[in-house]
Amino acid sequence: NATRLLGKTVLVTGASSGIGAATAILFARGGANVILIARRAEALKAVSDACTTAHQESGLVQGGKFASVQLDVSDKAQVASLWDKVPQELRNVDVLVNNAGYVLGVEHVGDISDEDIQGMFATNVLGLIAMTQLLVKDFKARKSGHVINLGSIAGREPYAGGSIYTATKHAVRAFTGSMLRELVNTPIRVTEIQPGMVETEFSIVRFRGDTGAASKVYEGLQPLTAGDVAEEIVWAASRPPHVNIAEVLIFPVNQA
Ligand code: NDP
Repeated sequence: NATRLLGKTVLVTGASSGIGAATAILFARGGANVILIARRAEALKAVSDACTTAHQESGLVQGGKFASVQLDVSDKAQVASLWDKVPQELRNVDVLVNNAGYVLGVEHVGDISDEDIQGMFATNVLGLIAMTQLLVKDFKARKSGHVINLGSIAGREPYAGGSIYTATKHAVRAFTGSMLRELVNTPIRVTEIQPGMVETEFSIVRFRGDTGAASKVYEGLQPLTAGDVAEEIVWAASRPPHVNIAEVLIFPVNQA
């Protein structure tokens, strides 16, 4: 029931492209306010403008407030100063979508640079934990809230050439599962979304900007769109308050 989103405030990390952008826009269409976080200011501005359009098109009076915050979730100091950059009216967040994340490279173990190892863990794991720590404190004080983490099929199944990325997503799954159990019997909900292949900038980042190599990944199959995953996120967030969607595993039909 989409009316459950009316006037809610959602914070989406990694909102400048792909799944995060589609999620921000879909929440905007549903009458929510959205705080959009990512490192690229211009891309964030474009998504924020798309949120405004989506909200206007919805004809809803609730929601429609959007704030873009240029922030690197892997930088602890930036995360700690988040509220300084968010307008007062948006500081009571109802839903945190921890979506920022990436995979860089396809090298096998022994050949992966220290920079790439540190970078993936800093964003995918430590950044997600830092954002969660910050928001869950508020959720506990207000006795309400929902954390939605982007895991992956890579958090369930390792693959060659993905040792670091799969390790980060296994960590996300372990962290999310423990948090779910810690928060049982509280009104705070915890969800993990685990997509298979989604066509976004993800593959381009993975192949370090080589768009040819990136598009080869999707040859012969129809990948999910960012919108497909956004629909699952918004669906999980709009269940009745006593319903917790713990995990959603979502694949293209031609991926096993
Ligand atoms: P995109 O590359 O399109 O989006 C990733 C987003 O994360 C961008 O907005 C990027 O913005 C942001 N981001 C990356 N690092 C940081 C950081 N340190 N601080 C803040 N923002 C950051 O990829 P997807 O939309 O596909 O990926 C979203 C999530 O979904 C990721 O967690 C990914 O692991 C997961 N996923 C993706 C799958 C796929 O096949 N695409 C499959 C399974 C899971 P900016 O560069 O502006 O900071």
